[in-house]
Amino acid sequence: MLDIQSIRADFPILHQEINGKPLVYFDNGATSQKPVVVIEAIEKYYKEINANIHRGVHHLSQVATDAYEEARLIVKNHINAAQLHEVIFTSGTTFGINLVANGFSQMLKEGDEVIVSHLEHHSNIVPWQFACERSGATLKVIPMNEKGELVMEAYDQLLTDRTKLVAVNHISNALGTINPIREIIDKAHKVGAAVLIDGAQAVPHIKPDVQELDCDFYVFSGHKMCAPTGSGILYGKEAWLNKLPPYQGGGEMIKEVTFEKTTYACLPHKFEAGTPNIEAGIVLGVAINYLNSIGFENIEAYEKELLKYATEKLQEMPGIIFYGTSTEKASVISFNFEGLHPYDVGAIIDKLGIAVRTGHHCAQPIMEYYKIPGTIRASFSFYNTKEEIDRMMDALKKAQSMLS
Ligand code: PMP
Repeated sequence: MLDIQSIRADFPILHQEINGKPLVYFDNGATSQKPVVVIEAIEKYYKEINANIHRGVHHLSQVATDAYEEARLIVKNHINAAQLHEVIFTSGTTFGINLVANGFSQMLKEGDEVIVSHLEHHSNIVPWQFACERSGATLKVIPMNEKGELVMEAYDQLLTDRTKLVAVNHISNALGTINPIREIIDKAHKVGAAVLIDGAQAVPHIKPDVQELDCDFYVFSGHKMCAPTGSGILYGKEAWLNKLPPYQGGGEMIKEVTFEKTTYACLPHKFEAGTPNIEAGIVLGVAINYLNSIGFENIEAYEKELLKYATEKLQEMPGIIFYGTSTEKASVISFNFEGLHPYDVGAIIDKLGIAVRTGHHCAQPIMEYYKIPGTIRASFSFYNTKEEIDRMMDALKKAQSMLS
């Protein structure tokens, strides 16, 4: 059982009024709020530690380097990577996917195929379009069904010995569907394809075990899991990271530079060119420790309760249409009201202090499937409450009566 009131006390931003009403923050899918331990760690870094890493012999540089490498170890243990150097710091999910896609664009050739799914965020579509355009490979798409699930029989048909890479999300940001990634990975491996999992929406809710999943790459952003923006992780199996060419050239990623030839540093530094966001990397470790102190089993169970409560309440509303009705779902609800534009509803409830996301959620193909401009998305975190859901319901009723 979570002590929600004491958890909420950890999040200063929640205790404010917006437009004269107490804030109800249901836009956790876009970014999470930050607990005091994280905010204090950012301050401590700049007050006591700030120095460049892996470079100076001086004391502070060593302290900063140790803290950064400690964070890498926290991430390694959290996702159960086999090796520390399989954990690459990035600025976020988008960067991680682009890094891998750029590498593949140099390894793919005409006739090869890359598979993504209809449920992807644009950042797990566009980099693969780039890679296919540059290499002459072909992009294939796993279709979705009305419930917002992947059509696995169609996936089976798409997989051939031409398939070189499969890139899918663990959890859909627009609908909340939890995809059967274990099955997707196993099937891809049977035809010799690598698999990249976009874990951006999973890591706030689930502790991924990359060895158990057997994925080749797993990427995520820190900012959706209580850490600062500018922090992120690319996990890659050692063999794949060795095969993949470097992404950015610069300091830190080299072994030796001459004008004739440059050799590259070992993992993980080969993919960490330039001065990283040191503070964000260190504080990602703090955020992961914070989440683990609450416990992902507790988080999952409580968020399921919130999802069930909100779904039941919303079902009572006239004209409601849900998008993404899979039974395998994270605490995300996407919906509309018949005849009302999602933006209008979102704007009215914002005036009542309720923060939800409206629009296509960077997943336009999903909106195209349902033939809608967008949805209203409420995404819940472990610091939200049923009382807040009640407040959203009151606000939605008001919006509905104003707009009808
Ligand atoms: N993939 C998914 C599923 C996401 O939800 C997001 C963020 N909305 C991204 C990728 C991109 O993450 P970022 O903007 O942090 O790079």
